[in-house]
Amino acid sequence: MRVMAQVAMVMNLDKCIGCHTCSVTCKQTWTNRTGVEYAWFNNVETKPGVGYPRRYEDQEQWKGGWMLDKRGRLVLRSGGRVRRLLSLFSNPDLPSIEDYYEPVTYDYDNLVSAPAQKDIPVARPRSVLTGRPTAITWGANWEDGLGGAPENAGGDPNLSGEWAAKVKFEFEQTFLFHLPRLCEHCLNPACVSACPSGAMYKRVEDGIVLVDQDKCRGWRMCVTACPYKKVYVNHATGKAEKCTFCFPRIEAGQPTVCSETCVGRLRYLGLLLYDADRVGEAAATPDERDLLDAQRGVFLDPHDPGVIAAARESGIPEDWLEAARRSPVYDLAMRYRVALPLHPEYRTLPMVWYVPPLSPVLDAVDAAGGNQDDPDHVFAAVTRLRIPLEYLAELFTAGDSEVVGGVLMKLTALRSYMRERTLGEAGDEAALKAAGLTVREAEDMHRLLAVAKYQDRYVVPAAHKEDAAALTAMENRCPVETSGDPEPRKIMLGIPALRRNTTAGGRS
Ligand code: SF4
Ligand code: SF4
Repeated sequence: MRVMAQVAMVMNLDKCIGCHTCSVTCKQTWTNRTGVEYAWFNNVETKPGVGYPRRYEDQEQWKGGWMLDKRGRLVLRSGGRVRRLLSLFSNPDLPSIEDYYEPVTYDYDNLVSAPAQKDIPVARPRSVLTGRPTAITWGANWEDGLGGAPENAGGDPNLSGEWAAKVKFEFEQTFLFHLPRLCEHCLNPACVSACPSGAMYKRVEDGIVLVDQDKCRGWRMCVTACPYKKVYVNHATGKAEKCTFCFPRIEAGQPTVCSETCVGRLRYLGLLLYDADRVGEAAATPDERDLLDAQRGVFLDPHDPGVIAAARESGIPEDWLEAARRSPVYDLAMRYRVALPLHPEYRTLPMVWYVPPLSPVLDAVDAAGGNQDDPDHVFAAVTRLRIPLEYLAELFTAGDSEVVGGVLMKLTALRSYMRERTLGEAGDEAALKAAGLTVREAEDMHRLLAVAKYQDRYVVPAAHKEDAAALTAMENRCPVETSGDPEPRKIMLGIPALRRNTTAGGRS
């Protein structure tokens, strides 16, 4: 067992109001610069919808993530070393600027410098890239609140099953939720493995994935390989950039900017301990629907004395072990098992997980004339949501709607129970039990998900700068197994796949 620590995030989608504060504050902090006008390290999509860039979830088209070859070995969907080298200068699997959107500014000067005239002068949109007047026809947030859904949302790659006909876009029949997205800081990052220059790397101390700007040669293999399309090319420097998980703040024990500013208080940050020796095996799990359990199987119980001893042996500091025991991410993903990974079938083992949205369940009870406080009515409604369970399953469980249904049942039982308690009633413990929860767990979950105090949401231990020398010596250690590649570790991970990186070296 090789114990490593990873900073991870959970988002409770039930509480996201789609205000985009997270996106804007992230942009102001990280991409408010020439060359990355079109880049949103954090964006918030409306689902159902095609997303940003358009249809990024269609891996048949974009070739992101990992797949199993005929012999069951894990290989990059973008191809092996030879294919990647052959497409160095002409990569057909890259989104174009139209798939993101053409960034614009406005001709503000015209408002004050236009000659006297009959009509009021206007500020026309101009392309930031060409400087020419342009028409605005798409954006990173074009489908906000299902805008244009009847025309566009059918292109959502998740709507591919026979059940997709159940998703309606007509007024009063439709349903939407917001999906905030950022780099997943994956345990098995395809971007790192695809980088021919060794510029992408995963930090040994906390698992944050970064780009070394000095080493990046702009080959853009990382853009293709990332199935979440969360690596961007700076068109001014020609180099890759991506979400840094606000590492300078994390190193200081503070939450990321998107978390700190989240209006809905729905983001959770904490440590997870995991067994680096099991990453490759988990990512190569044959059946996609077993990937969720496989990834959970990589995480280690921070309360287990054996794990604590092994973590100490790996050099993980005591205060980090304490933080891992208090981690809200561990609680939501492992203890209560209500958080799920986004598209586990991409096999990158993503580390930003989501509590699926529950609100439509209660709407469905109302619509059927049921009682929101009656667990029988609510449980029955879970199976006939306006947005089918199958859709949520496509997003979070590789199509296994039973797992998503189980999570929604738990959240429903919790809500009904706590509502009764709040109204001075005893609370239906049988309903809790039916959903697999104890009273104690329900109270703890309620504190975490509903009360959501700052100190409970963010448990981020500060970096140990005194360990810098030791971490540098671990430069070539790598937690990512990449079985199946013709030249596994050296090629697929770039050379120094893991490197320590405190504030001084953390360029991205
Ligand atoms: S989500 Fe982030 S870590 Fe994962 S493959 Fe994409 S860029 Fe790499
Ligand atoms: S700030 Fe929070 S509530 Fe607002 S869009 Fe972002 S994640 Fe959702």
